[in-house]
Amino acid sequence: MTPPIIVWFRQDLRLTDNPALNAAVRTGRPVIPIFIWDPKREGDWPAGAASRWWLHHSLAALSDSLRGRSSRLILASGDSVDLLSRLLRATGATTVHWNRRYEPAARTTEHEAGSALEKASVEVETFNSALLFEPESVRNKSGDPFQVFTPYWRHCLTLAVAEPEKRSTCPLVAPTRWPVSQSLSDLALLPKEVERVAPNALDDLETSRSTRFAEVWEPGEAGALKRLKRFLATRVESYGNDRDRPAIEGTSALSPHLHFGEIGPRQIWSAVKALSARTGVFPSSRGAQVYLTEIGWREFAHHLLWHFPQTPTEPLRESFASFPWVRDAKASRAWQRGLSGYPIVDAGLRQLWATGWMHNRVRMIVASFLVKHLRHSWREGAAWFWDTLVDADLANNTLGWQWSAGCGADAAPYFRIFNPTLQAAKFDPDGAYVRRWVPELAKVPNEHLHEPWNAPMDVLAEAGLVLGRDYPHPIVDHAEARASALAAFKEIGRTRP
Ligand code: FAD
Repeated sequence: MTPPIIVWFRQDLRLTDNPALNAAVRTGRPVIPIFIWDPKREGDWPAGAASRWWLHHSLAALSDSLRGRSSRLILASGDSVDLLSRLLRATGATTVHWNRRYEPAARTTEHEAGSALEKASVEVETFNSALLFEPESVRNKSGDPFQVFTPYWRHCLTLAVAEPEKRSTCPLVAPTRWPVSQSLSDLALLPKEVERVAPNALDDLETSRSTRFAEVWEPGEAGALKRLKRFLATRVESYGNDRDRPAIEGTSALSPHLHFGEIGPRQIWSAVKALSARTGVFPSSRGAQVYLTEIGWREFAHHLLWHFPQTPTEPLRESFASFPWVRDAKASRAWQRGLSGYPIVDAGLRQLWATGWMHNRVRMIVASFLVKHLRHSWREGAAWFWDTLVDADLANNTLGWQWSAGCGADAAPYFRIFNPTLQAAKFDPDGAYVRRWVPELAKVPNEHLHEPWNAPMDVLAEAGLVLGRDYPHPIVDHAEARASALAAFKEIGRTRP
């Protein structure tokens, strides 16, 4: 009897362009696809509540797709290294395939699993499904990792991008005996609403949170491919202009799909490249070029995390290590719940709570507000995002927060303190985004919407709004907060790493 191959799925929950799976199928041997729920091995970063919601539905979708190929997804929970060994014994498999991950805890697990399996004379093969350019293979002229995006990306663009692997439709060879699988509900991934304290003003969003997620998202490979297709057909050309407008669907919203590996960057690259067939010019438009550059930021984030694995908790710029961050539970709560009194900040945090996603421009605004206006640690913000984002991704989240705090690679300078009112006026000029997520301000006219505290009393009365009752007064004064942030960050900001 031919021994089966175990394919260990992790953040590669797709059948197309999945090199670990394809290589197993090509052997003609029986294939046993498995997923192990092992939060203890994720170090300080086990999946947060929103990510677990996504994972539940993504595993359901993968399981269905495998059934369509006459196979199944074996689910298990516990220690991955032990469970892999047990599954090998139970199935007689002699080979394990997986696609590599780049987070520090995942690398340790891979290392331990590899050693344990090789000791047991099991053949291990690993592959790249998640990146265009794996971090180890990209170095600057001195042989060091890049720390600035522009030269990094310029260098990457001189390298070849592999074509995605084709999706095979042939059935997977089944083993003579399937190992026992847990049911999806045994993994208890779906968050219980009681795990959270409902923000008072958002009770309606809280109670229907899972329903809202399901209205917005379709986790799984099919959902990812649909989103990519729609984005390329209708939005990529104008992406360069529209990507900073939170009120419109100007971006691809592929981030959770990319995080869970329901689609890979090679598929995206190749699909964008195919747009050039008409024009013969690659990229086919400025929008396509800017879009690929954003995919480049994702690559850069993974490059940094791989080379600087301490950065999810430690600032890349060491001069920030002793910065006296403020702790103020009341202010933290107001920020988290979208009750800061700054409409654009509150809109972003409410969008996050309701949908598990926030527009990139608004992520930058709310992050700057937390670290500069409130002077709370970027780690506090990263932790909140980690729990609430469906696209929570250690590499991208670390880069985003360290960039916003000014302590990361290629970071915003210390004196860049976003003025939330001006940012809102520029990127949400007609207030559609704020009105959508902060409905109590819906009737405030445009000229006062982004700073209701400066609106004349009669305008507020006309809009049916009493500040302090229906919507909070700002929790900090922008000018004062800016001045004290500048003073606090000045010394540290001038020090080079
Ligand atoms: P698009 O504009 O359509 O871009 C396409 C893809 O490129 C994205 O899906 C994403 O994978 C990648 N990308 C785009 N912008 C960035 C960026 N600045 N850095 C890295 N990759 C990028 N992104 C996450 O995926 N997970 C996170 O946990 C995360 N946390 C963030 C925290 C902060 C404070 C900030 C400022 C940004 C964070 N980002 C994070 C990056 C960015 O906001 C999201 O990737 C983007 O908003 C996702 O929307 P989209 O898929 O429509 O992006």
